[in-house]
Amino acid sequence: MADCIFCKIDAGEIPSEKVYEDDLCFAINDINPKAPTHMLIIPHEHIPTISDLEEGQETLAGHMIKVARDLAHKAGVEGYRLQFNVHEKGGQEVMHIHLHLMGWM
Ligand code: 5GP
Ligand code: ZN
Repeated sequence: MADCIFCKIDAGEIPSEKVYEDDLCFAINDINPKAPTHMLIIPHEHIPTISDLEEGQETLAGHMIKVARDLAHKAGVEGYRLQFNVHEKGGQEVMHIHLHLMGWM
């Protein structure tokens, strides 16, 4: 998707180290972290918001949660928060689904 920051990062057009990647999604460290550990889990597929998830795509959301859980364990955080911001009113700035993983030691 042209003009989408996360599609550009996925394609390597904007530099950002992927800390994880599989067939469905990838993860990067948030550029402006709001917690000591702050990663974003992002599907390769450009889906603007959680509201746009269609029948059958719930497995993608479940997969993203599992990946976030594994990354939290790997980072060794003691507690963590998983957050989807949805629509501008819900605090979503980048219109390509992403799951925030925020963790604290
Ligand atoms: P949202 O507000 O859409 O839920 O979250 C978007 C997140 O993406 C923000 O926490 C912001 O700091 C992060 N972000 C925006 N642009 C970039 C970027 O170019 N690189 C990285 N690593 N994170 C970004
Ligand atoms: Zn995108």
